[in-house]
Amino acid sequence: TLNGKTAVITGSNSGIGLGVARELAKAGADVVLNSFTDSDEDHALAEEIGKEFGVTARYIKADMSKGDECRALIEKAGACDILVNNAGIQYVAGIDEFPVEKWDAIIAINLSSAFHTTAAALPVMRKAGWGRVINIASAHGLTASPFKSAYVAAKHGVVGLTKVTALETAEEPITCNAICPGYVLTPLVEKQIPDTMKKYNMDRETVIREVLLERQPSKQFATVEELGGTCVFLASSAANQITGTTISVDGGWTAL
Ligand code: NAD
Repeated sequence: TLNGKTAVITGSNSGIGLGVARELAKAGADVVLNSFTDSDEDHALAEEIGKEFGVTARYIKADMSKGDECRALIEKAGACDILVNNAGIQYVAGIDEFPVEKWDAIIAINLSSAFHTTAAALPVMRKAGWGRVINIASAHGLTASPFKSAYVAAKHGVVGLTKVTALETAEEPITCNAICPGYVLTPLVEKQIPDTMKKYNMDRETVIREVLLERQPSKQFATVEELGGTCVFLASSAANQITGTTISVDGGWTAL
């Protein structure tokens, strides 16, 4: 169990991050939820998790597009045995039309935030004598799709950062790995459905099966619980010698 360990999960008031936080809490970890907002709902989410699983659960606001706030999140958490770099956004457009501010935001939130939080967390893990860095990359960290230049570049970058972090901690009881999900039905993906329906003049079910899950041979979405379970595994002692690698949870996408 993860009793006594503190997990900090970036971008965790929704989707995969929230699912990962819940599974880590279920396994006994104290959890720190995060996003850039600071609403009553955000704090209520943490309270619910704390009650449901009997762990300490807190919500700490920090904007992952800003390096100093990324570092401050780790400092405010006070402890960080398990760091899950999950915050991420998407934008879809051809390179020649891609808004520069979207490119900058995606690189900052999806890639640079993991550099800043990892930089702040490694000294804390070294002091504690144990640590796990888990980066939520994507199948798009290993393969590409058109119109997702910033996202694909950032996620490939995350896989690279994962390898370097693993090598720099290789002789210590710290590991760093990336999880590469295929499609998971979260708000991030839900938002892409209406536009895609319009673009291809398809109904929702057809968009899901033929566009979103086109490259996911299982024809099923991965779930946030499954991704949380993968994080729990990577945090377990069974994964002591797993470092610097990627685990695909993609229904066969990257086997194609
Ligand atoms: P989501 O939109 O449900 O969640 C994204 C989370 O990031 C939210 O909690 C949001 O509040 C947070 N966030 C966004 N901008 C932030 C900022 N500036 N500072 C702090 N937090 C911020 O999306 P999701 O699908 O759960 O995505 C989570 C991660 O999983 C992302 O890195 C995404 O790229 C990755 N991923 C998702 C899928 C998928 O199919 N859903 C597939 C592969 C990888």
